[in-house]
Formats: sequence, structure tokens, C-alpha cells
Amino acid sequence: MIVKRIKGISVSDGVAIGYARIVEKEHIHIETKKIAKTVVNKELKRFHKDVEYVINELNTFIQDDSFSKENRDILTTHKMILQDPAFIKRVKELITQKLFSLEHAVSTYFTEVVNIFDAMENEYYSQRLTDFEDVAYRLLSHSMNKSKDVLAKLDDKSILIMKNITPSFVTKVFEKNIRGLCTEKGSKNSHSSIIARSMNLPMLVGISGLLENINEGEQIIVDGNNGEIIIFPSSNVLAEYKSIYLQESQKRKKLQKLINVKAITLDNKEITLMSNIELPEEIDQVIKNNSRGIGLFRTEFLFMDTEKLPTEEEQYKIYKKIAEKLAPEPVIIRTIDVGGDKLSSILNIVHEENPNLGFRGIRISLANIPIFRRQIRAILRANTQGNVKIMFPMISGVEEILQVKKIIEECKNELKKKKIALYKDIEIGAMIEVPSAVITSDALAKECDFLSIGTNDLVQYLLAVDRDNESISSYYKSCHPSVLKAIKQTVDNAHANGIKVAVCGEMASDTQYVKLLLGLGVEELSVSPGRILMTKNEIINCHVQKWAKLVEELMELKTSDEIYERLNDGKNYE
Ligand code: PEP
Ligand code: MG
Repeated sequence: MIVKRIKGISVSDGVAIGYARIVEKEHIHIETKKIAKTVVNKELKRFHKDVEYVINELNTFIQDDSFSKENRDILTTHKMILQDPAFIKRVKELITQKLFSLEHAVSTYFTEVVNIFDAMENEYYSQRLTDFEDVAYRLLSHSMNKSKDVLAKLDDKSILIMKNITPSFVTKVFEKNIRGLCTEKGSKNSHSSIIARSMNLPMLVGISGLLENINEGEQIIVDGNNGEIIIFPSSNVLAEYKSIYLQESQKRKKLQKLINVKAITLDNKEITLMSNIELPEEIDQVIKNNSRGIGLFRTEFLFMDTEKLPTEEEQYKIYKKIAEKLAPEPVIIRTIDVGGDKLSSILNIVHEENPNLGFRGIRISLANIPIFRRQIRAILRANTQGNVKIMFPMISGVEEILQVKKIIEECKNELKKKKIALYKDIEIGAMIEVPSAVITSDALAKECDFLSIGTNDLVQYLLAVDRDNESISSYYKSCHPSVLKAIKQTVDNAHANGIKVAVCGEMASDTQYVKLLLGLGVEELSVSPGRILMTKNEIINCHVQKWAKLVEELMELKTSDEIYERLNDGKNYE
């Protein structure tokens, strides 16, 4: 066999050598089992619940604009198949009258339909047939808990191969200690990618032809450093990668020595290096890496993959536990930022043609005031040590900050009336991720206690390039002159108003940009716990004043390429 290399987009660096585990459709075997009359009602309930679950799942995909319009139209057709009264009626009939199990009844219905279409010998109907087969697979694999089977085949030698992956599934597969992850779709700054990166899991996305080129069980190499996957590696290639893997492990060991080293630059400036978390379980990693608190808790993950919204009490307990564990270090809790690739079915977000410019971030909270107030109350109550701060996503101007401040005051009064003791004050901050927020950052700085730049979205909105669309990823340029200018403007306005500014987007942990950010005047960075030590290594090797000088030069350059080249030469500055 000849060594084959396929290019992809690297999400996190590092090398993984393992065996391909393809997670795709698998054959479902249905037992033609009858049920007792006494369990008919239970079976009907299970049927309605499973249909509802799959419809919700489909809704999430339909609203996810990382899928093409064509794909979403197909999924809308699938949803209609499940909502078809003829389907519901027939399956109910089979369960109640023939005493078929739910799986048997569903598969019988679909077989009947497929047989009818099959007999028609018409291209339109044969396409419809695939749709029916797809829907049957989706519903049955849910009813039969097939996703659990999928997880069962993964182990610590696996490299997972999928068409696409959701953020929650990344977390699930990580628990299986897999070595790497490759997907045909996806982009560098989607939430699945951010999570994989935070777990230091070598991952490539946007690999076209991935599923056609790999067979189950084959030995493969994921090269996250060069953005390629290697199939049929020869013994020489394998030996080469084993040696790279060893060197990387040694590098990681070396970085471990920085755990107790302070994040102080060569010219003695202390940088606050904090962590971004998505799930409460990540707190152990935050502590293990000796992070100076949490700079971004993406709380929307508490609202996803759940059938019911978390209550005030549930949220309060989670926030309080994290705040107490990390006190006196700060814990910045960002209110829900659902939208884009993080759509939550339970918030009833309707399909939008242009979701990244639609109901996202603070807009969702301001349109769902009771849910928002519940979260604000939980955060206020959790601030027992005075180290909790609140941050708002997708702020586009001062009016939204004034609105949220009013709501915070109302929530405080509400809690006081209930005689719930509150810490005297809570700091509030705005995320700077929309161009209008950069332009009005002077006014925002006057209303906030801190600002935090979300570069993932800021680059997306400044350059009008969808962060989740792999086909235009070459337009997503973090060192575009406009990005540098936007960061500088925000930093200058924050400092002129006596407040600090952090960067919590992925640029903060990208080793090619850390020193640049410090040179731009940023004094706080928040990164995935797994990137803390790598980022610290950049900080302690940075002379901020020299980089500030280089930044002055960079600000004069006209193109991203020139900036990128100069940045690389910048290493000579040390
Ligand atoms: C960002 O946009 O940079 C950010 C940190 O927020 P998120 O990635 O959750 O949108
Ligand atoms: Mg954002």
C-alpha cells in the first residue's frame, strides 16, 4: 500500500497514532417482539417521547447554519415525515391492536412505505425512499440507544472518524480516552473544535473525502501540526511520527515545570492568565494547571442537550461550587450565549435565515427575561466570596448594558426582599465581539468594570466571514489589520477609563499571537485549561515593551500577509 496523505484544517496541534473508528450508520437489527397488553400505554408514551426527541434533534440541525441549505431542507422533510398524522396513526395502531413493540411497529410502518415507493419505479420516489430510510434509522437508533453502542467501540487506541461532531459528543468521546478526532465537516473555531482543543485532543476538521478514504480499524496518523491525516503509513513514516510523538510528550513534561511559575514577562509585567470553561467538570483541569481563576464560563452548555432548563437553584449550586473552589481568584460567568452552532432546542429558537446575525447572545436573554432573571439571581446568590463577576455576550452598544444593569438591580432588590444576603457588589463586563462594540468601547468602558475581547466572533463580524464555514476559512484572518486596530482601540479606551481588558477568544492561546496581544496592551488572557502552560511559556518569554514597538510597525502594514510575515520576524526582537 502507498502512503496516502489527506489535508484538513488543524484544530489542535499534536500528533496521534491510532486505529480508525468510523462512527456512521450501522445496521439495526429489530426483533419482531410482541408486548403484553398491560404495557401498551407505556409503549405509546415511549413512542411519543422518542418522536419528540428526534424532532428536537432535527430542529437543532435545521437551525444550524454550518449545514448547507440543501441539507437543512432535507432534514425539514425528515421532520415532516415524523409529524405526518398517517405515521403516528399507523404506529399507534400497530402497538395497540397488534401488540407490536415500538421498534417493531416503527420498522413495520417504514417497511410498508418503502415497499410502496419501491413499486413506483420513479426517480422522485426513489429519492423519497432514502429519506424514509434515514428517518427510520434516526428514530430507531435513538429508541434502541444505539449511540451507547457507538461509544462502546471506542477505546484509548481509537481515532474517531465522523462526518461532523456536536460539542456534547466531543465531551462524551473524550471520556473514552480516544487519541484523536477527524471530521469531514467543521471549522477551526466551531465549539466542537474549541472543546477538542481545550482537551488537547489532536483533531482535524474539514477533511474532504475522509469517509471514502478510510476503512474501519486501519492504522492512521493524525498530524495536527501540519494539518494532515496519513493513511497506510509505511514503517519509516510510522517511526518518524513515533519519534515526533515522543518529542512532544517530552515538551509537555517540560511545560509541566511552569505550573508554579508566575506569568511575568521578561520586563516584569504580571499577566493574569485565566481559564475558559464550558462545563463544571473542567474545574479540576483549571486547578491542576494552576490558573488564576476563570475568565470565561460559557454557561450555555448547561442549557444544551437537556430536556429541561436548569432551575435557579440548580444554577446557583453549580456557580457557587465553582466560585468557592477558586476563591479568591475571580470567576467570570458569562450569561447564556446560545446561537450559531450552539442552538438549544429547549429555548425554542426559531429557524432564521441568517442566525449569526439573528437571535444570539444577549438578544436571546433580553427576549426571554424570566430565564435571564433566573440566571442573574443564581449568579448574584453564588457570589458569597465576592469573586464572581458577570459578563454579557454579543453586546452591540451601551443601551444593552444599561438594560442589563437595570435588570441586575431589580434582581438584587427581589432577593433582598426575600431576605437573601448578597455580597455588596458584583463587577460586570461586556464582551467585545461586534464591530459596533469596538467603536463605542469608550462609552462601554464607562458603564462596565471590565471588557473582554471575544476574538472568535470579533474576527467573524469584522471580516464578515462565518466562523463555522470551512469553505471560506481562508478569509478568517486573525491578524488582519482591522483586527489589530480593533483590539488596540478597545484596549486604549478601556485604559483611558481605568479598567482592564482581557482577551478570551482563541487568539489568546494561539502561540503565534500571544506576544502580539501583550504588545497591543492586553493584560489578561483567558484560555482553555489545557493551553495554560503553553500560553504561560509565551508570556514569560515576552518583552512587552519591545513588542509594543513592533506593534507600532505592524499597525502601519496594509495586509494580513505582511503582518503575518513581520510577526514571524518578530521573534528576532527578543
Ligand atoms: C469569542 O467569540 O471569542 C468567545 C470567546 O465567545 P464564543 O467562542 O463562546 O462565541
Ligand atoms: Mg463569542
